[in-house]
Amino acid sequence: MRTAAIEYSPLEPFAKPAKPGQRPPRVFGAPSRYVQGAGVVDDAGHYLSRLGFRRSAVLASPRSFGAEADRVVASMGRAGLSVEPLSFGGECSLQAIEGHARTLQCAAKPVDGVVAVGGGKVVDAGRALAHRLGVPVAVIPSLASNDAPCAAVSVIYTPEGATADAEIYDENPVLVLVDTAIIAAADRRYLVAGMGDAMATWYEARATAATPGGVSVFGGRPTLAATALAQLCAATLYRDGADALDALGRAEISDALENVVEANTLLSGLGYESGGIAAAHAVAQGFTLIERVHNNCLHGEMVAMGVLAQLLLEGDLAEAEKAAGFFAAVGLPVRLANIGIDPDNGQELGVVVAGAMAFPFLCNMPDPVTPERLLAAILAADELGARIV
Ligand SMILES: [Zn+2]
Repeated sequence: MRTAAIEYSPLEPFAKPAKPGQRPPRVFGAPSRYVQGAGVVDDAGHYLSRLGFRRSAVLASPRSFGAEADRVVASMGRAGLSVEPLSFGGECSLQAIEGHARTLQCAAKPVDGVVAVGGGKVVDAGRALAHRLGVPVAVIPSLASNDAPCAAVSVIYTPEGATADAEIYDENPVLVLVDTAIIAAADRRYLVAGMGDAMATWYEARATAATPGGVSVFGGRPTLAATALAQLCAATLYRDGADALDALGRAEISDALENVVEANTLLSGLGYESGGIAAAHAVAQGFTLIERVHNNCLHGEMVAMGVLAQLLLEGDLAEAEKAAGFFAAVGLPVRLANIGIDPDNGQELGVVVAGAMAFPFLCNMPDPVTPERLLAAILAADELGARIV
C-alpha cells in the first residue's frame, strides 16, 4: 500500500494570489499549436521547423525509436533539423530527468528544444527536461489514454514507479502533434481510458465554476472558454464515443474517432487545466494509494469511478446514471470490483478516502466534503454500477 500523496510543485501557481476581498484573476493556458490527423508524424519536421526548432533532443523509448519516434527523426532529417536522440528508460523520475539534463548541458552544442514521443511518462519526462534546459517542448503522444499532452504539468515518480510529486511549469508545449493512425493502432483500452479521464473534465470544471473559491491548476478562476471546452468535451464523448470504438474495430479513421481523439487530448487537456479539477480526480488519486489498483488500472479507469462518486456527492443522480450508462457501454469501470477493490474492505476504502481528502483540489467542490460523505458517495457509485450492468 502506498502512503505518498501527490504534492504540488514548489513552483508558485501562475496566477498572483488574490488580494483580500478580491477574486483570483481568470487564467487560460494552452499549447501554441495543436495538429491532429492520420500520418502527421511524418510531417513533424515541417511543424517543428516552422516553430523554430533547429537542433532538438528527441526523447523516446527504445521501442518507439524502432517505430513512431523513428518516423519523427526521419521527418526532422528531411526538414534539415539536427537530432540528439535520448533513450527513455521507462520511469519519469528526478534521477532520470536530471541525468538527461546533465548530458545535454555538457554536450558541445546545446539543443534548442525537446521533442517527447510516446506515452504519458515520456511526455512528462520531456516537459520536465525542457523546463530544466530552459527550452520549448513539443509533445507527440502515441496514446490518447489521458489528457496530459497539452498541459504544463508533469507527474514525477520515484525510480520504483511510485508517484512522488507534480511540477507545474509556466509554459505549455509549443506543439502537440497527434497522429490519429498511431492512436488507432494502439490497444483500444487506452482510448477507452482516455474517455474516462476526459468525461471527468466537464463535471469537475462545472463544480469549479460553481464554487466561489474554485481555481484551476494555474491558481486562477476558470474562463468561460475553458468551461465551454469542458462541456463540449463531454457532449462529444456522449455523441461519438460508441461510434469511435466501432470505427476502431473496423480499423477506420472516421470523423467520430477523430472527434474522440480531440476530446480526449485537446478539449479535455484545455478544459481540465484551465477549468479546474475536483472530486473525480481526488477519488482517483485515492485509488492509486492501493498498490494493486495503481499497478493494474489506467488513470482514466480510476477517474471513471471518481466521476460517478463526484456526481453522487453532488446529488446529481440523473447525470450519474447517464455517465454510468456511457461508461458501461464503452467498457469503463462502474463497479469497485472492476478496478480490483472489494466494497466490503473498509480498511482499503479508508486509505482511498484519506488519500482523496488530501487532494488539494477537493476544495473546488461547491459543498464541503467530509470523509463520511466521500465514502458514502464511493459506495453509492458502486451500487449505481450494480444497477446499470
Ligand atoms: Zn486526469
